[in-house]
Amino acid sequence: MQFCPKCNLRLKKGTCQKCGYTEAAKQETKKPTGDMDKSFTILDESDGKETLPTITIDCEKCGHNEAVWWMLQTRSADEPTTQFYRCSKCSHTWRNYA
Ligand SMILES: [Zn+2]
Ligand SMILES: [Zn+2]
Repeated sequence: MQFCPKCNLRLKKGTCQKCGYTEAAKQETKKPTGDMDKSFTILDESDGKETLPTITIDCEKCGHNEAVWWMLQTRSADEPTTQFYRCSKCSHTWRNYA
């Protein structure tokens, strides 16, 4: 029989009735990360502003002349890497197909 390691109580149907510990919890397996869509993400507004490099480029929205930029490989390997810009003033984000 199984005992809860925290409470030393006997588990009922694999679950501690006191603290909720389950036998299954310690056998947790890593889920495969096969979701390719997640490799294609656009940074959100608050993310990475301090660490991204800046480039002198005119914002098409507000006319500010500095933006941060980053590169992303799209889902298909056939497609070119896409360069993204985000205005450091208004946070307008656009992309450049090089
Ligand atoms: Zn317990
Ligand atoms: Zn702007």
